Amino acid sequence: MPNNRDYYELLGVLRNASDEEIKKAFRKLAFKYHPDHNKEAEAEEKFKEINEAYEVLSDAKKRASYDRYGRVATADLFGFEDFGFGGLGDIFDAFFGGTTARAQRRSPQKGAVLRANLTLSFEEAIFGAEKQFEIWRIENCSVCHGLGSQPGTKPQKCPNCNGNGEVRRVQQSLFGRFIHAATCPHCKGEGMVINNPCRQCKGSGKERVKRKLTVTVPPGIDENYQMRLSNEGDTGKYGGSPGDICINFSVKPHKFFVRKGNDILHELPINFAQAALGDNIEVLTLDGKATFKIPSGTQNGKVFRIKGKGVPRLNSKGRGDQLVIIRVVTPQSIDANQRRLFEELAKTLPTATMSEGEDHEIID
Ligand SMILES: [Zn+2]
Ligand SMILES: [Zn+2]
Repeated sequence: MPNNRDYYELLGVLRNASDEEIKKAFRKLAFKYHPDHNKEAEAEEKFKEINEAYEVLSDAKKRASYDRYGRVATADLFGFEDFGFGGLGDIFDAFFGGTTARAQRRSPQKGAVLRANLTLSFEEAIFGAEKQFEIWRIENCSVCHGLGSQPGTKPQKCPNCNGNGEVRRVQQSLFGRFIHAATCPHCKGEGMVINNPCRQCKGSGKERVKRKLTVTVPPGIDENYQMRLSNEGDTGKYGGSPGDICINFSVKPHKFFVRKGNDILHELPINFAQAALGDNIEVLTLDGKATFKIPSGTQNGKVFRIKGKGVPRLNSKGRGDQLVIIRVVTPQSIDANQRRLFEELAKTLPTATMSEGEDHEIID
């Protein structure tokens, strides 16, 4: 509420109004603006304002302070952070004479999830690897073990709230007695205060440390794969378990191979003569060299499938294949002798037509 709102004006009474007049004015307005009866947009705000005005003006000490020093100073003097009501729930309770206490429970909180990015070589993603990485995380302080107190001392129960973390204020209203609960300003709701803060963590109980962790990357992963390391993230609060670490991967490209799912694509250049006459060819695979036979009349773009030389299936058995894609390379420069031979050959060759049939061969 604006700091300059006049409580007397709000309740529509004179500055010298009697307690009885103030009570009467408040009762009238409280019923008028109660959110149950009044659906206008400003009703709730107005209801809070008149409650605040009544809370001060119905109390002789607060009223005297208000008359002399105004709203802000009165709030400070009487030691509450906020006048009036914390929320609609309180207002309803107050209105119907109930009792309310908003407990600020310090329940266990799981620590934050951390993220890490690991770069793998092409082969590491395929065959798996043990990878080490470094990560900064928040752990309990190594000196005070999370207590925040210098060793030999202990955090003390907060004297302001007696360890509850909240302070309760009993309020009398026309509609009954109710309790307003607020977070204790002294301990900020912790319930404990530290008189001798740990020098290492300055009382926070936490420290940021760099850790070296090892992760076992399973065979067959790709860049879509995400790993979770349970309980390796930031430490929890109030006895909560630590968060996790989420690992994302990036995989470096290979000089010759391209991965497509569980298959490995591999383009193999051959020359004219090999394509026309056929040949025994040596190719690279993920497991080393392999030899296979290209038949005579092999066309550009023909695919040979080498079974079981692809990527191991993640969390399953078997492997994909290696697909060797033939690229017939036309010579870019030929000498006089080769030219003569080509010319001889050309006379004997028929006009080229598209070949028909299967251009995908499987090699076991
Ligand atoms: Zn410490
Ligand atoms: Zn406290």
